[in-house]
Amino acid sequence: MSLQGKTALVTGSTSGIGLGIAKVLAGAGANIVLNGFGDASAALAEINQHGVQVAHHPADLSDIAQLEELFAFAERFGGVDILVNNAGIQHVAPVEQFPAESWDKIIALNLSAVFHGTRLVLPGMRERNWGRIINIASVHGLVGSVGKSAYVAAKHGVIGLTKVVGLETAASNVTCNAICPGFVLTPLVQKQIDDRIAAGVDPTQAQHDLLAEKQPSGAFVTPAHLGELVVFLCSEAGSQVRGAAWNVDGGWLAQ
Ligand code: NAD
Repeated sequence: MSLQGKTALVTGSTSGIGLGIAKVLAGAGANIVLNGFGDASAALAEINQHGVQVAHHPADLSDIAQLEELFAFAERFGGVDILVNNAGIQHVAPVEQFPAESWDKIIALNLSAVFHGTRLVLPGMRERNWGRIINIASVHGLVGSVGKSAYVAAKHGVIGLTKVVGLETAASNVTCNAICPGFVLTPLVQKQIDDRIAAGVDPTQAQHDLLAEKQPSGAFVTPAHLGELVVFLCSEAGSQVRGAAWNVDGGWLAQ
């Protein structure tokens, strides 16, 4: 599969799943626009090894003005052909103790930014008559878990939005799909393991317990697994996958 000449914007790609997806897309030949917080020099160097064009913009996507700046910046690469809406955060607390500002931040980033990015790239994709919008949702877009009200609500919303955009683009060469990972060992999940360690659980046991509660394979999904699925969705073979929510979850949702 060659994505040479295509430009992929991957939100939240300075670490974790986003960086993993960006690396696989670069390996397939796509030019990459990275986004996310922190020092991006290591991510830029890794993508550079593939001999593609790469740039980074640090926009905070929970702020619409900064989000619009990122998408204007990406247009300088000739237009976004592949948009991976990946940036996301988590906060775990029961509903009655859930901080209102955490709810607002999670909805703004995990849901509203997906809508804003989609509305900004669609005109160019329609004009060029090719595009892929891939939303990194979660198994939590399809089922709930205690303590994750904002995250579960946002991810269910992302899957609803994916269906609508999949329908609105159905007669074109633009597709929109969601990927629903189970547990992937990234900083977002490490924090949940660290919380268990802080509560006195042995580190190996904490990781084992987290997986054992939900993921029958007992193994983490990897960012590379997800990157390969993104590349498949960009291929001709993936062109009639539309409005889908595709779980990659070690069996989580089969239970
Ligand atoms: P991560 O914490 O490793 O990375 C998140 C990325 O988003 C980082 O690059 C960070 O800088 C960036 N980011 C955070 N806030 C931002 C903001 N306001 N604006 C722009 N960028 C911001 O997280 P991850 O585990 O790689 O998660 C990536 C996506 O995958 C999220 O949408 C998450 O919900 C989803 N997901 C993760 C898992 C998992 O097990 N890790 C499972 C299912 C779904």
